[in-house]
Amino acid sequence: MTKKNGCLVCGKELVFFDLPKMLECAECGKKFSTNASCQEGHFICNECHAKKAISESVQIARETDSKNPIEIIKEMMKNPFVHMHGNEHHVVVGLSLMAAFKNAGGEIDFEKSVAEMQNRGSKYPGGSCGFWGACGAAVSSGMFMSILTGSTPLSEKPWSLSNEITARGLLEISKIGGPRCCKRNSFTAIKNAVLFCEEKFGVKMELPSEIRCEFSEFNAQCRKEKCPYFCTEMA
Ligand SMILES: [Zn+2]
Ligand SMILES: [Zn+2]
Repeated sequence: MTKKNGCLVCGKELVFFDLPKMLECAECGKKFSTNASCQEGHFICNECHAKKAISESVQIARETDSKNPIEIIKEMMKNPFVHMHGNEHHVVVGLSLMAAFKNAGGEIDFEKSVAEMQNRGSKYPGGSCGFWGACGAAVSSGMFMSILTGSTPLSEKPWSLSNEITARGLLEISKIGGPRCCKRNSFTAIKNAVLFCEEKFGVKMELPSEIRCEFSEFNAQCRKEKCPYFCTEMA
């Protein structure tokens, strides 16, 4: 995989400056003070970077016919605009579940749900796993459930289901232990959500026989053998 190391415009290596420079974003044209560009001077601002990660993931969710949300989210994660870690995972977990749920025959108002997933997921901040005690990948599965069941703060059953899926996901995430890894937590939250949807709705999404992570080499804090998804031949 060549992702995440080169320029997203031309693929060349990134260079870093001791003092920030004012550069124009290659997407929106606005000027920003930055400490990095590619060798050719290309630069993409944070906002455009995030927007692209989400819009391209939505496209994948719309086009896939897979019932396997792990397969779907891996495709999203391979997009160079999706960082190794970052709050785009708070959207893509829910998106991959919505797509797989629909493809598995689950009842869902797909386009409306996808729009709401982007809206809610992008509000949940990065670092919440460590700072708020509630990893955004698990919360994204709770948002998926809330949107699916039309939950509001005044609901009964949908309210309960939304909190329960998040709670179970967080429990599984906590058992594996930190430090943060948006890939590991996303896979765990999704696996939990698949089992939950079968239990509660009888909708059978699919899971791979073994979840294997392809992103270890990009994670400086990878727990390697201590992670259930670590895979030596891919790392
Ligand atoms: Zn470039
Ligand atoms: Zn921009």
